[in-house]
Amino acid sequence: MARKIEPDCRQCRREGRKLFLKGERCTTKKCAMERRPVIPGQHGASRKRVTEYGLQLREKQKVKRMYGILEKQFRKYYDEAVRLKGVTGENMLSLIERRLDNVIYRMGIGASRAECRQIVNHGQITVNGKTVSIASYIVKVGDVISIKENKRDLEMFKQLKGMKIVMPKWLEFDTETLTGKILANPERADIDTDIKEQLIVEFYSR
Ligand code: SF4
Repeated sequence: MARKIEPDCRQCRREGRKLFLKGERCTTKKCAMERRPVIPGQHGASRKRVTEYGLQLREKQKVKRMYGILEKQFRKYYDEAVRLKGVTGENMLSLIERRLDNVIYRMGIGASRAECRQIVNHGQITVNGKTVSIASYIVKVGDVISIKENKRDLEMFKQLKGMKIVMPKWLEFDTETLTGKILANPERADIDTDIKEQLIVEFYSR
């Protein structure tokens, strides 16, 4: 499968903000956005003028990079969001937020979305008792998400036991039973507030 090849920290510097792609490192002083928060490249620090198109493009790239989604699939989320009732931008974010890799990231099962994607791809997660190894699988209200029984002895899962995890109100995850549930669909207020989804809608409606 095609994947992004740009180094994680370089992506953050390009977008001018932390995208939290590397788990724990992102909250330490080793974070590249703490040490060198400038656009990469020879003229990065001196780039100033941004057109309206540039703003829209950057917003789209930022969200794609945050969630680790490639262009073709990201465009599909937009097309699907247009078809749904309601506000297109919010629909699109809600769909992306309900991807299985993001859901287990929000539940605190992995330290980054990339790690969570790998956990799903390796068949370590079940949805309603069945193994789901597709990171882009869209969960729905009532779905029960679990760490597969025979994987619970892995160190990365054992260390979750008893941990207090802060997560959005549309999700629950019990660190004793290693099982969680989708309580509701995510609302706009549950999703990162500094995303300007309207710019992405404008980008694709050009
Ligand atoms: Fe981004 Fe994390 Fe790298 Fe910091 S450490 S630049 S937040 S990927």
